[in-house]
Amino acid sequence: MMPAGRFAPSPSGELHLGNLRTALLAWLFARSTGRRFLIRIEDLDRARAGAEAAQLRDLAAIGIDWDGPVVRQSERTELYEDALRGLTEDGLTYECYCTRREIQEAPSAPHAPQGAYPGTCRDLSEAERERRRAERPAAIRLRAGVAEWAVTDLVHGRYLGLVDDFVLRRNDGVVAYNLAVVVDDAAQGVDQVVRGDDLLPSTPRQAYLAGLLGYTVPEYAHVPLVLNQAHRRLAKRDGAVTLAALAAEGVSAERVTGLLLASLCLPPSLPAALEAFSPAALPRDPWVVDPAGAVRSAW
Ligand SMILES: [Zn+2]
Repeated sequence: MMPAGRFAPSPSGELHLGNLRTALLAWLFARSTGRRFLIRIEDLDRARAGAEAAQLRDLAAIGIDWDGPVVRQSERTELYEDALRGLTEDGLTYECYCTRREIQEAPSAPHAPQGAYPGTCRDLSEAERERRRAERPAAIRLRAGVAEWAVTDLVHGRYLGLVDDFVLRRNDGVVAYNLAVVVDDAAQGVDQVVRGDDLLPSTPRQAYLAGLLGYTVPEYAHVPLVLNQAHRRLAKRDGAVTLAALAAEGVSAERVTGLLLASLCLPPSLPAALEAFSPAALPRDPWVVDPAGAVRSAW
């Protein structure tokens, strides 16, 4: 299978400038290295009616093209269940009956890192499992053999992060993001993962899981987020930050592409940007935008 990069939005609403900039970066990374570029809709958790179509329209409007059909995670649950079955047959999963509150209140093991699952359900007896199963539906957790794992990132270099007994399937039956994303990337031939750097902390878990499933770990590039004037992650309430809102202010999609490329220190047209793109020259700091000011002046 020809190697690929991808953009994988959740269809929870319109894409804003931060999402569009990450999509553009994923496209530049993939296309500049001769990879296929795939779009995957991560709709296991929440999907708002019409959001997927609007997102695809916006991606096309800023000049992003992609290969093959768009896939939806909600149509791929069999793949995830197969992977889960394999892990269970290898003794690498267990049922967990903890509530969020029980996890927070459980005494953590000495030296256990902050936020790690305390292992409450790891070694229950079969009788105890029977009893707890009757109380509430079980989540499925990974029986991790390590406490941390290192990944190599094109932007951040070596990154060592927490791996605990993380959830693979929630107790409402929905497959967890960490499992679905790993299975999908392997099944789709994705060997380059470019996404916002808010996802860097969960990457060691995913790389470790990929290894357990016998997959090749992809190359990672976690790119800086886009922030508002208060230096918080950009959100739709920050003003005209979606293509539709910007169009209403007279800013065309083409100008938005130019602005996003300029924020990456790249020339304002996609072909020229593709020619000039170099991961090493990527700005390392978040991009702070002022949508109102931008609409008034520079745009
Ligand atoms: Zn538990």
